[in-house]
Parts: sequence; C-alpha cells; structure tokens
Amino acid sequence: MRGRRRTARRAALVPRTRSSHDLAAGTVANFGFQSGTRIINLPVSFSIPKFAQGSLRMIANFAIGTLALAALLSCAAAPARAQTTPDLAALIDDLVVANHILYHQGVVDGFGHVSVRHPTVPGHFLMARALAPGRVTRDDILEFDADARPVKAGGPPVYAERFIHSEIYRVRPDVMAVIHSHSPTVIPFSVTQTKLQPLATTASFLSPSVPVFEMRQSAGMTNLLVDDTARGKALAEVLGAHPVALMRGHGDVVVGPSVRRAVSRAIYTEINARLELQAVMLGGPITFIAPEEAALMEKGRDAAQEGHGANRTWDMWKDEALRAAR
Ligand SMILES: [Zn+2]
Repeated sequence: MRGRRRTARRAALVPRTRSSHDLAAGTVANFGFQSGTRIINLPVSFSIPKFAQGSLRMIANFAIGTLALAALLSCAAAPARAQTTPDLAALIDDLVVANHILYHQGVVDGFGHVSVRHPTVPGHFLMARALAPGRVTRDDILEFDADARPVKAGGPPVYAERFIHSEIYRVRPDVMAVIHSHSPTVIPFSVTQTKLQPLATTASFLSPSVPVFEMRQSAGMTNLLVDDTARGKALAEVLGAHPVALMRGHGDVVVGPSVRRAVSRAIYTEINARLELQAVMLGGPITFIAPEEAALMEKGRDAAQEGHGANRTWDMWKDEALRAAR
C-alpha cells in the first residue's frame, strides 16, 4: 500500500515545448514536471552552447577554451567540486523542490530564498525570481552573475537580498547552496544574550558557535536588508567558515556543500532553536553537544550509506511538500 502510494506520487518528466529561455550554459527548453494531475513547468538544458553552433573553427576554439578552463578550474577551484558536478536540469529540479520543502517545513514563509551555485559557469548562481518560495516552479528560475545581476536583462523582478548569495559564493568556494530565511525561532537568539548552540545530534553542525550579523557595525542605521554588495560582503565576513550565521532581528543564512545539505541544515537549525527555548524554560544548566562530539557526528555525514544521511530526510520532506502542494 505504502509502495503503491509512493509510486503514484513519483513525478514524471513530460516534454513541453511552448516556451524557452536562455541560460549561459546553453539553450533551455521547457519540460513539464507532472505531479499527479498538476503540471509545473520546468526548463531542462541541452549541453551544446549557442556559441559553439557555428563553424568548425569556432567549435575548435571552444574545445580549446574549455580544456584551458577545465585545467584552470582543476588548480584554482578544486574545493568547489566537493560534490560531483550535477546535471543542470537535475539541479534545477532540486532547487524548485528545496523552495517547497523550506516553505512546507516552516523555515520560510512568503519571504526567504534559496540558491544553488551554477555547476559550470564560475561565479554564477541560480535562484527564483522575486516570488514566495512555496509558489516557485522551473519557469521562475533565473541565472545571476557574480555581482547578483540577472544574466538575461529585462526579466521579471528579482529578490532585493540576492547580494547575500553573490557575496557568499564569492568567498566560499566550498559552498554550493545558500539559504536566507526569517526562520522564526532563531530570531530570539539574534536579539538576546542567549547563544544558539547545538543540543541535538541533528544540529551538531552548529558547533562550536553561531555568529550573529549586526548590520549596525558596518552600515549604521539601516532597514536591515542585505540589498547591496557592501552589506552582502559584511555578512559573508561574519559568516566566515561557519555553516550558519544569524542576522540580528531578521533571520539567518545557511550554506552547504549541496542544496540538500543546506536544506537539512536550515530545518535543523530551526528545530534546534525550538528545543533550546524549551531547555531554557526548564531551567538549570544545559548540556550542549561538545565540539568533540559534534566533530565526530559531522565526520562522514556526506558519506552516509544508502538509506541514511541527508537523502533519507530529503526524500521524506519532498514527498510531504509535493503532497501538500496538490
Ligand atoms: Zn530577509
């Protein structure tokens, strides 16, 4: 029974050709993402770049350029390939699903956004147009350059706080996904002297500390929005090498080596905050996860066997989010 339901829920890719977009990686045609009776339009990219569709000489130049770029990346950006480079279409699928999971799990509401680093264009990233995360489809995904400008000019409105993403990708080659949310339970820890610390195994990545971004230190009195490069840079400096930073009176930013890990971290950051509030209310000293314990828990987290690790929870959250979206 459970197996049949799962099979019925499994989404099918259905070719659709009524519109197309241009991403820097090449021509993108629309494909439908069918879930039950609902079809969400999603773009799928082809691997042949437009600029390689001319003469043989152009193709040869492209091949030489690609080899040179690959050689450069192998030396200069090796940490950025901590995960296997995913197929662009599959990555966009995960990005759309991430938006829905984060909404369904209460990490984002009408605000908040999630991005993934472009798998082949250095410095670029993919993120939805300005839209509530729970409504994002493939058609809403745009490509941004390293300065957070949409690659395709004249498009739809974009998120004001996209500079959070561009400035973190600029200084963190290990980061493949960035989430900014107004995750409600973390906000009290950004405005009080009580530090957010891991007390549950699932949030051991928060060890040994979670920095708090205080925008007044770099920009004085503001509207608290990270809506320009300078503010994004200041936030990225406070984040440092951490996976999570709180933003005073605002929310948090969570990063990861994959969009699935980033989503997991964002959800368990919110859960840990709830648990810590409960522990504080019980009174007395709290025994947090020790840094040594946290290091042991995080070690090998990505090398989990089939049925364990982030994919297990991802599949569950995805099923729940798609079911709720029908
Ligand atoms: Zn915000």
